[in-house]
Amino acid sequence: MNKNDEIILEITSTSTEGFGVGKHGGIAVFVPNTAEGDVALIKILKVKKTYCYGKLLELKTPSPSRTEPDCATFLQCGGCAYRHITYTKECQIKSQKVYDCIKRIGGIDLPPEPIISANNILGYRNKAQLPFAQNHNTGFYALHSHRIVETENCLLSPQVFNEIAATTSRWAKKYNISVYNEAANTGLLRHLYLRIAKATNEIMVVLVINGSDIPFKEELLCELKKFTALKSIGLNINKMQTNVILGNTCKTLYGQDYITDILCGVKIRISALSFYQVNRDMTELLYKKAAEYAEPKNKNILDLYCGAGTIGLSMADAAKSVTGVEIIPEAINDAKINAQENGLTNTTFICADATVAANDLNNQNYKADVVILDPPRKGCEEQLIKTVATGFAPKKVVYISCDPATLARDAKLFDSLGYKLVKYTPVDLFPRTHHIETVALFKKV
Ligand code: SAH
Repeated sequence: MNKNDEIILEITSTSTEGFGVGKHGGIAVFVPNTAEGDVALIKILKVKKTYCYGKLLELKTPSPSRTEPDCATFLQCGGCAYRHITYTKECQIKSQKVYDCIKRIGGIDLPPEPIISANNILGYRNKAQLPFAQNHNTGFYALHSHRIVETENCLLSPQVFNEIAATTSRWAKKYNISVYNEAANTGLLRHLYLRIAKATNEIMVVLVINGSDIPFKEELLCELKKFTALKSIGLNINKMQTNVILGNTCKTLYGQDYITDILCGVKIRISALSFYQVNRDMTELLYKKAAEYAEPKNKNILDLYCGAGTIGLSMADAAKSVTGVEIIPEAINDAKINAQENGLTNTTFICADATVAANDLNNQNYKADVVILDPPRKGCEEQLIKTVATGFAPKKVVYISCDPATLARDAKLFDSLGYKLVKYTPVDLFPRTHHIETVALFKKV
């Protein structure tokens, strides 16, 4: 196959990123904006050794899973991957993707339990990080790029986020505040970072800036205070030439430096720097499944990568004890206050690297009945898994993962250390995007 070739292709599967995939002469062709079941005229854009990228020219026979995309910037912005197919089909693809990883990377042929799908696929996000474009509008990055696609009305965000973004853009335009330029590391405004606690409707607004302060502060505060649900306005200082969005320092300009949500009946305080799952309603279902797997009653629970303590705290009432470990100091501070505020006195929170803390706890003879792992996308370090499996050697490990590929890799290591993957459930925390969360149960054999 050559660049600019035009071929008729039947789409038979879906890639990790949500592209349709078809085979042409044994070569896989990846085509955005196509769906399993489509037959389409494709133009080849890029030829690699073992695969190609193509562009959809004309649909010959549309897939029965297709629906009309409902967003003007669908596939321009890097957010949604599946606005062109039904949600039922999306869930089927996601479930299959997790299964494929477990089988192919993990070497374990065990189908998943039924996916827990979302009732609400619109406006579910409780957090948005919107880069400022040079014209002061906000948007989202295009896929694999830092090109900003201006977006006035993101369908995954609550409407109030769009309104706050518009208000902030107007202020930035009016006073001609400089916008950050990544290549030159100049300009002030980097991102608008928004959070809402869905159970209480409390809102936090943070301006991420390449500087120490903003001009025309009172003017901005005056505009933002019109949103009565706003409980916290602050600055985040990020002067580094990096694509990491948040810097380490926050300054409060108005109100508190946190908002409060309620999750699984527990009051959760969230600071700007604390991780908090972006879909509250689905997180409740995820934690419920995690508790079903963990059976926390009278157990000593070790919650590694605990963030603001949310998972452990949701089980603390039933558990004998909960020990949480997390690397971000602000999150651990939140976790400790969250435990206190909810009267959960059987909890300990440690600010440390999970691998180091696990090793220390093991050396101090700490006994865990259940270990919960909820690492970032890159998964767990080998050493941590070894400490868990051969040190603590709990009856059960409950692993929550936002990347099925690293979950599968880690499942393989657990398997080799005598921990069998017993069951796992995909939970759709991120409808319409290609992301999928999974909770898995390992048992000692
Ligand atoms: N369990 C929490 C957070 C999960 S996200 C929840 O459900 O909300 C993963 C967390 O791991 C983040 O809070 C991140 O700050 C933390 N983290 C990342 N690297 C870490 C490390 N090496 N050691 C400990 N925690 C880490």
